[in-house]
Amino acid sequence: MVARAARATDLADLDAAVSDCFACPRLVRWREEVARTRRAAFRDQEYWGRPVPGFGAADARIAILGLAPAAHGGNRTGRIFTGDRSGDVLFAALHRAGLANQPTSVAADDGLALRDIRIFSAVRCAPPDNKPTPEERDNCAPWLQREVTLIRPTLRVVVALGAFAWAAWWPVLHQVYGQRPPSPRPRFGHGAHWSGTAAPELLGCYHVSQQNTFTGRLTPGMLDDVFGRAKQLAGVD
Ligand code: SF4
Repeated sequence: MVARAARATDLADLDAAVSDCFACPRLVRWREEVARTRRAAFRDQEYWGRPVPGFGAADARIAILGLAPAAHGGNRTGRIFTGDRSGDVLFAALHRAGLANQPTSVAADDGLALRDIRIFSAVRCAPPDNKPTPEERDNCAPWLQREVTLIRPTLRVVVALGAFAWAAWWPVLHQVYGQRPPSPRPRFGHGAHWSGTAAPELLGCYHVSQQNTFTGRLTPGMLDDVFGRAKQLAGVD
């Protein structure tokens, strides 16, 4: 799988290759079972039920790094953060920031286009309870590393959604940028900022999960601040 990821010469190639990955038996079973049993509200829909590739601009200056696709969101629609409440909050914020052409993301063919930003996750298959194992995280790391390598020429800022994504960045820093991660690792927090040399700036942001947005732990204003800061650091107008 490391070799398959490394062979991808562009993003289209990478997206096609990752969509056909079966490296984690537990996650393959889960993504397919969810696609078979479905949620009642979507029973008439055909679920994607595969790994979910990254989405967005190939010349992105900002990347959003998430945890993993949602069982009835990305795993259903085939596009990351698409078709669930987390995506509703995220894409509304990207639209307010001028980084998305529309405020909603409901299906892979809904016309959504991103400018200057690309979204991907540390683990590409929906995990049970949103909890991948360390082995699954490590299995999937080559896909993330290859994607970052392919957009490295333009990438300036990475927004890590939650502590899992924040932690998943350090191996990328090592593998893609050849930099030894700081020790001890900087702690994740909302608004946390780590700056390296010759590597993207890293910004922490609470995850756009329902648990955070419904309780007010993460508000639209807080997201606007993060994306405003990301745009400033990345030199995006
Ligand atoms: S989680 Fe990643 S490595 Fe595991 S099967 Fe899915 S795409 Fe492959």
